[in-house]
Amino acid sequence: MVGRKKKVYGPNWHPIEAQSESGACFSLGMIQLLCPACGSSKVGPYGTHDRKNTRVETFQCKNRKCPHLKNHKTSKQFVLTSSYQFRELIFGKLKALYEDLLKDGAKNKTIAKKYGISESQVSALRTEIESAIDKLNGLDTLVLAPQPDTAVAIDETFLKIEGTSIYVIIATGYTSHKILGIKVSKSRSEEDIREVFNEADGNTEHNISSISSDALNATQAMAKNLNREITHIIHPHKKPFKKAIIRHYSYKNSERITTTIGVKSNFFKKRGKRQFKYMEARTDLSPKIKKKLGRPKGSKTKKRHKKPRTKKKRGRKGLYTVFEKGTIGYATIDPYRDKLKIGKGLSRPVSAGLNATLKLFPLMSIQNNLAENINSILRAIIRLRGPKTIESVERRIRATLKIRNHPEILDEVRITRQVRGNFLMNNLKLIECADLLEQGIIM
Ligand SMILES: [Zn+2]
Repeated sequence: MVGRKKKVYGPNWHPIEAQSESGACFSLGMIQLLCPACGSSKVGPYGTHDRKNTRVETFQCKNRKCPHLKNHKTSKQFVLTSSYQFRELIFGKLKALYEDLLKDGAKNKTIAKKYGISESQVSALRTEIESAIDKLNGLDTLVLAPQPDTAVAIDETFLKIEGTSIYVIIATGYTSHKILGIKVSKSRSEEDIREVFNEADGNTEHNISSISSDALNATQAMAKNLNREITHIIHPHKKPFKKAIIRHYSYKNSERITTTIGVKSNFFKKRGKRQFKYMEARTDLSPKIKKKLGRPKGSKTKKRHKKPRTKKKRGRKGLYTVFEKGTIGYATIDPYRDKLKIGKGLSRPVSAGLNATLKLFPLMSIQNNLAENINSILRAIIRLRGPKTIESVERRIRATLKIRNHPEILDEVRITRQVRGNFLMNNLKLIECADLLEQGIIM
């Protein structure tokens, strides 16, 4: 057509209305519609389309240089709630809210007060964000890519949900400081801990070769039964704090060699020559030939002799036996250069165990130093309202930890469902509206 007038698209303003839970509408003023792809104000109406109960006005980007056109035949179409400004506004707010929720111990109540919404609305928004994270990236994975860690700290926290005691078992990477494995469980058995370890092991580039934990028997058994070379550093959280145990497991000719080293917790804190105690145990792992079932021939007529009872020492072999019965060894430590030299004649496992520990605790005491503030986050999650089952709590914790591992995900999380009224009302009206007025976005 000749002489067709080129249509000029100017700034396009649209009223924002917030709907409260009761269905009442509030006007929040006018918002400028900008293309979500290029941010251009050159937008035009594009009719309406059906939503569940209503028809929604649609807009289209009219900017010919819009990057959306590079890989699409038609211009970017959007509705008010997916327009650039609106999304930035709402998601900026939600992001701030969610970040607040992640801060240690931030209560629903505090958040509700700060954002001028009810506590149940905080819960609702949180659930919404969690589902959005799930949709975006899945909650079954805690990290976006394999991490460089070769050492993890394993911790269990004891919590109560609905009157039932539960454990949250967590594995944190020493290099990335990210949570690499987690399980919420009624028990803290060897299997539970193994599951967490396996998840962490699957989230790292290389095999995990060192574990640190408290003295829980289940964790000790887990490390032992991994059947691969590993160093387990045990920093008891009960007295005596001053002692730590390093266990190194290695395997040779179907034998497990367990090397236990007892050190003072400040072993790697300063430069110098240190004394330690160590002992070695070998366990045959070759499959045993099973005994024949049934009673051995002639045993029925055999006279029974009572075996003389030998007095057994009661209880398990103590964790600290090595300090009493171990052999003395010496090592020269240089924690500034991550170096140590062990005395002549000491075995490779002794050196491997001490070196692995030095890597994690140079210039510091051997202690639980990774998971401290996670406990308060867990407690905050448990305090949240809503029905709680082991599954829902784990889901909630996973979402929180995922954001903690990758805060950048929050930039991508987008909630498509309508955001409830009070949140907008109370959070946009005062400061933002003034800001937006100044920027010329709202009038
Ligand atoms: Zn555009």
